[in-house]
Amino acid sequence: ETETSDFVITDEIVGKKFRIRDEFSHKGTYGKVTIAGGSYGKIGAVVLATKSAMKSGSGLTFTLAPKCGYEVLQTSNPEAMFIEGGIDFIDNFEIDEHAVCGIGPGLGTNEKTVKSFLKFLKDYSKPLILDADALNIISQDKNNLKLIPKKSIITPHPKEFERLFGATENSFDRLEFAISKAKELTIYIVLKDHHTQVITPEGKVFYNITGNSGLAKGGSGDILTGILTSFLAQNYSEEESAVLAVWFHGKAAESASEKYSKESMLPTDVINEFGNVFAELN
Ligand code: AMP
Ligand code: MG
Repeated sequence: ETETSDFVITDEIVGKKFRIRDEFSHKGTYGKVTIAGGSYGKIGAVVLATKSAMKSGSGLTFTLAPKCGYEVLQTSNPEAMFIEGGIDFIDNFEIDEHAVCGIGPGLGTNEKTVKSFLKFLKDYSKPLILDADALNIISQDKNNLKLIPKKSIITPHPKEFERLFGATENSFDRLEFAISKAKELTIYIVLKDHHTQVITPEGKVFYNITGNSGLAKGGSGDILTGILTSFLAQNYSEEESAVLAVWFHGKAAESASEKYSKESMLPTDVINEFGNVFAELN
């Protein structure tokens, strides 16, 4: 029998975990973020994830992306630095060991990307944020699961979860299965859904109740990756980062839907509401 404890992520819990910014600080205080991803035709995903990381408070932000994304990245995110990882897709993961790294948005699954990403995973031991095509690459071979660094945070939507671990009958079975995998692999699983669940390696489950169907659009997951990577870089623990990020993402979505409607709001609008959510927390 497995022992679990369940929590709903309330505004109160978040209010207690959130730390206000120290006036006697500098950019080094708020961590270094690297967002790695993008491929020809999918550069928007890293534009969004990078913007989202910066607007979530990180001190220094880098985007590791292919050269085909250089101009649009430098134009849309002038505050971020660009690291070239290939031409039309990434085939070289050169990641600063001092950075906290979120990998996957728009990454693609070109075989050279697959090879270099798996090689990078073999040599890397710090916790990572893994999303989207990073998870799809790992799904290609069950033995790859063991390469995920301990205490990493993975953010699969239901389809990605199924590709990673296999199918389950319903969402209850999926949660039980996810708890067993989080324990077995010593990772955090952010099971994205209408009510996203954060599962810790100890088997704790945090249910998020913020957010709405205005998030059911391409790009919503990419901005969650940005928030999560940014919070982890700002020295929140893995558990705190995951809990804060899913709540924050949903709150910003609620704020965006009030202005623009669930139909019209875009992930970019959600990012532009981050300031209002921080204002409430401060
Ligand atoms: P992705 O599928 O990777 O783009 O991620 C989608 C993001 O939007 C996740 O954080 C989901 O939790 C969120 N999301 C999508 N649809 C809904 C919905 N109907 N209600 C609440 N959140 C949603
Ligand atoms: Mg996604």
